[in-house]
Amino acid sequence: MSYVSSRPVVIGLEVHIQLNTRSKLFCPCSTDYIGKTPNTNVCPICLAVPGTLPLVNDSAVALGSRMGLGLRGEIQKYSNFHRKNYFYPDLAKAYQITQYGLTITVGGYLDIEADGKPKRVRIHHLHLEEDAGKLVHPTADGRLTGASYSLVDYNRGGVPLSEIVSEPDISSPAEAKEYVARLRQLARYLDVSDGEMESGSLRVDANISLSNPGGSLGTRVEIKNMNSLKALERALEYETERQNKVLDSGGRIVQETRLWDDAESVTRSMRNKETASDYRYYPEMDLAPIVITDEQIEEFKKSMPELPWEKRARFAGYGLSKEETAILTERKELAEYYEAVVSFGAPPARAANWVRMDVLRVLNELSRDIREFKVKPETLAELVKYVEAKELSGTVGKEILDILAREDVPFDEALKRTGARTGRLTGGALETLIDRIMSANPDLVEAIKSGRDKKGGKLKFLQGQVMKETKGQADPRETASLLSEKLV
Ligand SMILES: [Zn+2]
Repeated sequence: MSYVSSRPVVIGLEVHIQLNTRSKLFCPCSTDYIGKTPNTNVCPICLAVPGTLPLVNDSAVALGSRMGLGLRGEIQKYSNFHRKNYFYPDLAKAYQITQYGLTITVGGYLDIEADGKPKRVRIHHLHLEEDAGKLVHPTADGRLTGASYSLVDYNRGGVPLSEIVSEPDISSPAEAKEYVARLRQLARYLDVSDGEMESGSLRVDANISLSNPGGSLGTRVEIKNMNSLKALERALEYETERQNKVLDSGGRIVQETRLWDDAESVTRSMRNKETASDYRYYPEMDLAPIVITDEQIEEFKKSMPELPWEKRARFAGYGLSKEETAILTERKELAEYYEAVVSFGAPPARAANWVRMDVLRVLNELSRDIREFKVKPETLAELVKYVEAKELSGTVGKEILDILAREDVPFDEALKRTGARTGRLTGGALETLIDRIMSANPDLVEAIKSGRDKKGGKLKFLQGQVMKETKGQADPRETASLLSEKLV
């Protein structure tokens, strides 16, 4: 049960998304820094050696524009970079190159649905900036945290980020979580970023305040360090409750930055929040402005794929429920897989069930992604068709899927291993089997024939034996009628 705030909650989010470029924002160093030996993925530019000059990576500009367009923002034909000054050891230059004022896109919105209600969250702008390095506190036993001193690793320094700043339109922790989930989905659909919060490819800073009784905005607090959607929601719930309690007891909210401690489930004061003037923004004179032409804007627009909400609307045409559509379109690759299964002739509603229930179950068991799924869409379509035609039982179908997903064997081999065969067991063959089962259970047969099976449990048992022996290949109705004929 989530906390119910007695005052209206106002949340604005700043989401940093690491852009999928191969090289950093201003130098040729790789963006593939995770797991690398500290300070090996660096060069004089990202280490800020005096005399070096940065150069803007065009791919980062293209990806930032793409994300902005996905958010229905407007691409600015002219934008530039600023230096944001602050002294922190993970920032080699002691300033960060970022956009301020003239940003790559402005405006736009993202439609979400939380607690069953639709909501439009307006976007203020999207800007490009470079990432900082990382401080690590390694201990003698190899852990990366816990030491009493800090080491700095600049491998991440200069990796391109797009920061998406929302208007303060979000009014609950659940909405904030949903907004970030949809933003992440969009970034993945657009191939702009992998959007992984755990590895830091997507980071969220939240500004949260409670409105005053007169309706004016209260003092806002910034929350950082939330590494999952769940953590984001919990941190905002905690903060809503904390601020309400402070105000209820006659206290005042201090404008500050607080860190979420996931293990302890609390936010802790980190520092007083800087304001823009603390950063002494200064135009970056070493970089030419970014100029984007009408032709480029047209090209960006033309290269946009089908967006998540467009896909959802189209999938509704398959007669799927809202929930099914949402699950199937969450990842573009899963949606494409589903559509391929349908294109190979599987009925859409059945295929949806298989993908949503069985494919996702198997992937979860194997800790794999749909991109690593071994069962080809055409094979799953075959399987669905067999089950639909009752040539295979649902149980055998699932067994076959399990084998195909784990081992590289052809369909026929997987089928053989289940001991089943395609085709329904019917007529004479079914009758022979029933006779065999009856003669293996003479006591039951006798009891039924002499009217001692009032509740029908004994008949049910025999029927169950038939289904078990045939692995569900027999038609239950035909089995029942053949059995009762023989047992009168
Ligand atoms: Zn570099």
